[in-house]
Amino acid sequence: MDEKIIVGVDIGGTWIRVGICTPDLKEENIKTKVTKTLKENEYSISKSVILLISDLLTENNISRDQLIGIGLASAGPLDVEKGIVFNNANLGFKTIPLKEPIGQVYSKCPIFLINDGNASVLGIHFFEADEDEKDNLVYITMSTGIGGGVICNGRLLLGKEGNAAEVGHGIVEPRSIHQCNCGANGCWEVYSSGTGVKDRALEALETSSLDAKILMHLVDGDKSKITAKEILQAARGGDKFSKHIVDSCIFYSMVGIGLINNFFDCSSIYFGGALMKDHDIILPPIREQYKANPIQFTVNHPPEIKVTKYINEIGLRGALAFVKYKLEGNKIIPLS
Ligand SMILES: [Zn+2]
Repeated sequence: MDEKIIVGVDIGGTWIRVGICTPDLKEENIKTKVTKTLKENEYSISKSVILLISDLLTENNISRDQLIGIGLASAGPLDVEKGIVFNNANLGFKTIPLKEPIGQVYSKCPIFLINDGNASVLGIHFFEADEDEKDNLVYITMSTGIGGGVICNGRLLLGKEGNAAEVGHGIVEPRSIHQCNCGANGCWEVYSSGTGVKDRALEALETSSLDAKILMHLVDGDKSKITAKEILQAARGGDKFSKHIVDSCIFYSMVGIGLINNFFDCSSIYFGGALMKDHDIILPPIREQYKANPIQFTVNHPPEIKVTKYINEIGLRGALAFVKYKLEGNKIIPLS
């Protein structure tokens, strides 16, 4: 095998995914590997990435000289110029070098760093979006936190350091008593992320008079076992308490999406992330609301609301698309 190969990497708080592909990014040519995110020291992540790339190359009989670009999509915030992640709440260290340690091993190959939300919207753009929506596209992940990426007028929005579209920190309740990891109160992710849903439930359990029997049964009466997954499952089963918490997640998502649509006038918003395993509970009321009375949350015409087909892999696919677009000089990527 002597063809050219692109590498894509998705670095998250729980999983690191690495994929290789030919530059056409054809489905059948994508090969992937995944490992748990280690947090022993600030070089644990780069070491895992190097190891996974090396395994993929060996298993597929590919030499390092065939690599033409490595795309690193990581949870932010990033300093793209320095090639590091800084101040991330979930990765364990104040500064995590990525570009430099990986570049030492793959010195002949350009390495491109991008925020995972921004990568994901490129993944949707290349692998999923229709022609009539792809120039005005938003991706939102509802997972541990809430993140996003925006393509507006056919251009990816990056911002001054590559961290545009931190949509989860849009404030949806300014007088909220609930503080976000970022330090502000009332961010969207305080109510509608996996962590937010869990935290709001644990708090409300202390004071709520609503029936939480189904939820408590699911966790064998042990509150410490409650996560967003059980809350959604209990709500599905008719648990009044859990339904109330999920309703609040949905309500603040209407506010959050309304803000995004007012700012970017997008054709479609694609959702991904762990909470979207229950998209059939979360998204229909939002679509209904926008049909019935969009003006309550957005003055612009409401966007189509969709779920990505690649719930676990959209970041990785975005990293691959990012490298492809960079190498092609595609105008979707702003010049840096
Ligand atoms: Zn915040």
